[in-house]
Amino acid sequence: MGKANFRIMREFPLYVLPDAVSPVCPECGEPMEEDKCACPACGYDGAPVPAFDPWETEYAHGQIRAMLDDLNAALTFFQVSLINGYYSGAQLYVEEPESSPVELENAVCRRIWDLCRSAAVRRRDIERRKICRWMEQAADAWNMDELICVECFSGGIGPIAKKRRIS
Ligand SMILES: [Zn+2]
Repeated sequence: MGKANFRIMREFPLYVLPDAVSPVCPECGEPMEEDKCACPACGYDGAPVPAFDPWETEYAHGQIRAMLDDLNAALTFFQVSLINGYYSGAQLYVEEPESSPVELENAVCRRIWDLCRSAAVRRRDIERRKICRWMEQAADAWNMDELICVECFSGGIGPIAKKRRIS
């Protein structure tokens, strides 16, 4: 049985960035113009095919990671990263390095965040909503898809997901 491609998060939507593809010659793999029908390298006479483009993919990942650095610098409770799917694509992944203040004692909240428990819970919720808005905007800007988990497996990992295009 195969491994799940993406990780599901309990409190955040799953946005995924498909790998970038570029048109190439199906015969020799040379990049081709989308609207040209002859390969400049081998003379193949036909339409190009889409192929995984590691440079475009890496470029997009670098841009998104730079934006994430700015976002993370302003966060207290969560950290957001872009991680590769097990097989393909990449996803926005939110981690919570400490336990949620909901599960902690007042004194522990004071020690970690210098906030009483109820203030920490409130601040965490504000931060969660801020991250959700950020993710939605990033998904719009980068043409990410939102995946809905229709079947979750142990460890919160769901290989079967329904695709919904962000408008
Ligand atoms: Zn060719």
